[in-house]
Amino acid sequence: MKATHGSRHGRFMVRQAHHEAGVGRWDAEEEAVRHAEIAGAGFAGLTAAIALRQRGWSVRVHEADAELRAFGAGIFIWENGLRVLKAIGAYDDVVAGAYAAPGYHTSRDGERLAYERINGANRFRLLTMTRQHLYAAILAAARRMDIEIITSSAATGAAPEGVLHLADGRSMPADLVIGADGVRSAVRDSLGLIDARNKYQDGIIRVLVGRATLKGGVWDDVIDFWSFSPRPLRILYTPCGEDDLYMAMMAPTADREASSIPVNAEVWIRSFPQLAPALSAIGDRGRYDLYETTTLKRWSAGRTALIGDAAHAMPPTLAQGAGCAMMNALSLAVAVSDADDIDAALRRWEARERPLTDHTQSRAAHLAGSRALADGMPWEDDCFRAARHIPTGTPPQMHL
Ligand SMILES: Cc1cc2nc3c(=O)[nH]c(=O)nc-3n(C[C@H](O)[C@H](O)[C@H](O)COP(=O)(O)OP(=O)(O)OC[C@H]3O[C@@H](n4cnc5c(N)ncnc54)[C@H](O)[C@@H]3O)c2cc1C
Repeated sequence: MKATHGSRHGRFMVRQAHHEAGVGRWDAEEEAVRHAEIAGAGFAGLTAAIALRQRGWSVRVHEADAELRAFGAGIFIWENGLRVLKAIGAYDDVVAGAYAAPGYHTSRDGERLAYERINGANRFRLLTMTRQHLYAAILAAARRMDIEIITSSAATGAAPEGVLHLADGRSMPADLVIGADGVRSAVRDSLGLIDARNKYQDGIIRVLVGRATLKGGVWDDVIDFWSFSPRPLRILYTPCGEDDLYMAMMAPTADREASSIPVNAEVWIRSFPQLAPALSAIGDRGRYDLYETTTLKRWSAGRTALIGDAAHAMPPTLAQGAGCAMMNALSLAVAVSDADDIDAALRRWEARERPLTDHTQSRAAHLAGSRALADGMPWEDDCFRAARHIPTGTPPQMHL
């Protein structure tokens, strides 16, 4: 029998809990377990839900949106994120539709500045994929665990005693409440946890188009195109497979012409004529988001914890927002798994996991503020501490 200490709000019967993290599988028929209410069915919320369920918890996820989906863009997932995906049983599906670029270039004003071979033997990997693909794989893993996900169910806040408040007026008691409701988190704001929030001079238009003629040779690599003449613009050219091309198009917020949606293809083609086939195919696709950093006073209040962008939104310069979100979601589940005192377990979790996220966030913020990536990705320094990290809850040796 698992410990049920602290389960003040009721006991939940789990029919079957599958542990897919390589440490076995067990039947928990008739076992009384603790319960978590989670706000947000994004990468962080679903990862936490699966990881808790694997550890025998009962879980309910509330998603404000009417549908479970990710918008049309691409995403980079480094080795650390892949390890978490393995632990939650989503890895095989993710890798089946992901792309491993052989190289990473930086090009400025038409000149090739830097090149790094990636994804080769003995290197930590960097896979690219569409967000829809990543999301579908994680959602499928959640479905296999029979996790209850309620759509059109927005959270309005939470109480440290372990209660999630919903927009329909209901209050859901739980042993653990998780705010995974993104950068504008209602759960976080209701607890007054924000310490600082910074915005930057630049933002990014994200679009997904077909690769058309951009195939073969250098076009199979990731290419970070920068141009400072006639205006500062950047396109992170990212193949996501045989057919899909993701472009993350950085433009200063003050540059209305370049940051507008629908994308002003003419403006962009003037700076990046070599990408004309892709730029002219954008049409009315794309969305523009500002770079943003959020830091919290604490990652938890009583029995309510914050994860993902709700806790530590960061500029995408190191492509670690989702990676850190998934790492912290998994480590949270590990931390509370068998803990008698949830509040204390959450404080220990933060003390152990937060330094790496703080470090990554501050490096990402520096790169965003300085636009230093225009000189090439700094492969050698500590920017890749998170990518190389072996996340809590994943085995040190993983045969992928
Ligand atoms: C331009 C850009 C590029 C990026 N590229 C990368 C990358 O390549 N690699 C990477 O690792 N990261 C990247 N990121 C960061 C990454 O997208 C985020 O860190 C990640 O999506 C965070 O996941 P999340 O689950 O915390 O939040 P979200 O993905 O925002 O999910 C939050 C969920 O909560 C729901 N929700 C919101 N409010 C409520 C509410 N009140 N009640 C219930 N549900 C609610 C939302 O509908 C959503 O489903 C990028 C970010 C940006 C802006």
